[in-house]
Amino acid sequence: MVFGLLVLLAGAGLRAPGGTAAGEEAQPGQQAQSIEEERQLGDSIFQGLKEKREILKSSPLYTILSPIAADIVRAAQPRYPLPIHVYLVHDSQPNAYAAPGGNVYVTDELLYFVRNRDELAGTLCHEVSHLIHHDSMAVVEQQMRILRRELGAAILLGPSAGNVLAIALLGKLHSLSYSRDVEARADLTGADVCAASGHNPWGLIWLFGAFENSNAQTMPEFLSDHPDNQRRIEALQEHFNENPQVMSRFSSDPNSAARLSVPADASEVFLR
Ligand SMILES: [Zn+2]
Repeated sequence: MVFGLLVLLAGAGLRAPGGTAAGEEAQPGQQAQSIEEERQLGDSIFQGLKEKREILKSSPLYTILSPIAADIVRAAQPRYPLPIHVYLVHDSQPNAYAAPGGNVYVTDELLYFVRNRDELAGTLCHEVSHLIHHDSMAVVEQQMRILRRELGAAILLGPSAGNVLAIALLGKLHSLSYSRDVEARADLTGADVCAASGHNPWGLIWLFGAFENSNAQTMPEFLSDHPDNQRRIEALQEHFNENPQVMSRFSSDPNSAARLSVPADASEVFLR
């Protein structure tokens, strides 16, 4: 409830992209304001993670991540209005999540979990698709609506409402959870982004299987609607079948993928 109250207080001054009522066209000025709010929220989250010493400034793992991330950002950037950046964060569980404002955070443990480049690429493609769809901002907006209804009225609080909200969101990021429809949509957009970036869109499907067979303690963001992964796999396969010109050049065989060679004990320096 503490989280909820903070969101409510912060929410009084914040409107998400997509916050426009159904059937109502967002005006260009409104859109620009929404994007600016998303950017500010993203910056505050970044500052918060930095202060918690979670963001990696340097690590040999970037040698593996950065070239793949660069391909994917190149493919996704035309569809998102703010600069997309991919950062490593330190966490004992394999995970990746897209924050409002264009930052994708990938845990160092994910690089040890994936078996090949395309599984890592698939995760990144799914996450940048959440950016393209402004999904995390939509979650914020949804939380605010629920709380306004519960408590009756919004309270305006101070000039740093965005910061308060960002702090509240920090604790929530690792457990961001979307509906199956939102996840499935990110899968399909992600498959297109992956294909456009030259990475095999089957990577995400292989990763579903890898998590099924793992003893990971927590499910990563992209499997937050676990356990019904089968339907998402089928939707992806259908998407591949419907787009043979693009998708048929990729192999469904995980043995065709380039293995990742990750340094066993990578030394990490944190951003501060
Ligand atoms: Zn997702």
